[in-house]
Amino acid sequence: MKYISTRGGCQEHTFKQVLLTGLAPDGGLFVPAELPRFSLDEIRSWKELDYADLAMKIITPFIGDEIPTDKLRQIIEESYADFDSDEVAPLTKLKDKEYILELFHGPTLAFKDFALQVLGRLLDYVLTENDQRVVILGATSGDTGSAALEGCRHSDRVDIFILHPHERVSEVQRRQMTTVPGVNVFNLAVQGNFDDCQRIVKAAFADQQFLPEGRQLVAVNSINWARILMQIVYYFSAALRVGGPDQAVSFSVPTGNFGDIYAGYLAKHMGLPVERLVVATNTNDILHRFVSNNDYSATDLSKTYSPSMDILVSSNFERYLFDLFDRNPETLAAFMSGADSQSRSVSEQQWQRVRDEFDSASVDDATTCAVIAEVYAETGELLDPHTAVGLKAARDCLNGHGEPAITLATAHPAKFSDAITAAGLAAPELPAHLSDLFDREERYSVVANELAAVTGFITDHARR
Ligand SMILES: *Cc1c(COP(=O)(O)O)cnc(C)c1O
Repeated sequence: MKYISTRGGCQEHTFKQVLLTGLAPDGGLFVPAELPRFSLDEIRSWKELDYADLAMKIITPFIGDEIPTDKLRQIIEESYADFDSDEVAPLTKLKDKEYILELFHGPTLAFKDFALQVLGRLLDYVLTENDQRVVILGATSGDTGSAALEGCRHSDRVDIFILHPHERVSEVQRRQMTTVPGVNVFNLAVQGNFDDCQRIVKAAFADQQFLPEGRQLVAVNSINWARILMQIVYYFSAALRVGGPDQAVSFSVPTGNFGDIYAGYLAKHMGLPVERLVVATNTNDILHRFVSNNDYSATDLSKTYSPSMDILVSSNFERYLFDLFDRNPETLAAFMSGADSQSRSVSEQQWQRVRDEFDSASVDDATTCAVIAEVYAETGELLDPHTAVGLKAARDCLNGHGEPAITLATAHPAKFSDAITAAGLAAPELPAHLSDLFDREERYSVVANELAAVTGFITDHARR
């Protein structure tokens, strides 16, 4: 499989090359040159496979022979071995036709583990093969950081620097990052918001002069294609368990950076029968305004109970827009460069295509808490606030449809106890492996909201 940039300004890349970078050299995002397509017969034949075998079927066409099959199989198996559910991504029925896909059974309790457990091991394999060392730099609105540290800290070939917005992540989220041990692990609390962190990371990738000789930066946020790839798998897994591919299903996906739902969009275009895809946002609702009103203008960021979706600029949305603009890099670049203009929209015809593909809803904090309380009272299931946003959007958009509606449960509720207590419920306990989290020693540095503060820190601390 070859990969191309959404900006059309660089040569085709291999999977391994894409794995070892972030943005494409021309500033675009890598996407597969063409999407593999599976027949219904093929998908139907996967019903009995376990999660790792199913993953192999879905990801192999994207990797080709770049990684030997037995090695890849071993990486996948090891990545999911520590999940505290044998099913890896179990499906819970709330009521008739309404399901929750539990993606929080990995080591850091959020869906990011699905990709980052694999990414860390893939990097280790490829870097060893190349006899190479790299610096990982990532920004997190909370959950990417801990999952990336957990997935990559064992690799002696990486130094990993994770930026989070100072005092804008939950205490559990912060502690999950800042208590990770290791001489190659660095946490930076930037005095700004998540979009500031993302901007700094982007600028650092464009520079790279500050790195020790012979190093390059690798991205671990969802601009890294390998992350999207691993997220496609659970859409197939979930659909197969509720009658797919003979029964079409719908998904509701709590999103901010458009990473997770983009993986669902790919699953659909790879042949999985998907009826509707619901974009579920909190009050940071640019994606909802775009889908519902053809309005992609930026507004101010607000702080919500679902902080992992407190994002203004959806860095991953570009991959979808590339398809929407019939893979025309010029049209895409023109749209993106209007980023700061007052009102950004696409043509009426393009917007119709958006609406054929997606539904959307925006859910505020009060409603999020009400949904958490209501679902707990009805079913005994405790939803995390991101999942509650997703479920509410599913109910708003899919009510009355005949197909099974699956909401992605992106985090464990214990990660976001503020929302749970605000909903009038007792704060849930952390799972056993994290029960001493509040006693562990934290390590992080607060830095100014400036590129130079971050690059200077990396220059000083990356191991020679
Ligand atoms: C990262 C995250 C999201 C949003 O993911 P996208 O990549 O923006 O789709 C939603 N919920 C939780 C708990 C997350 O950690």
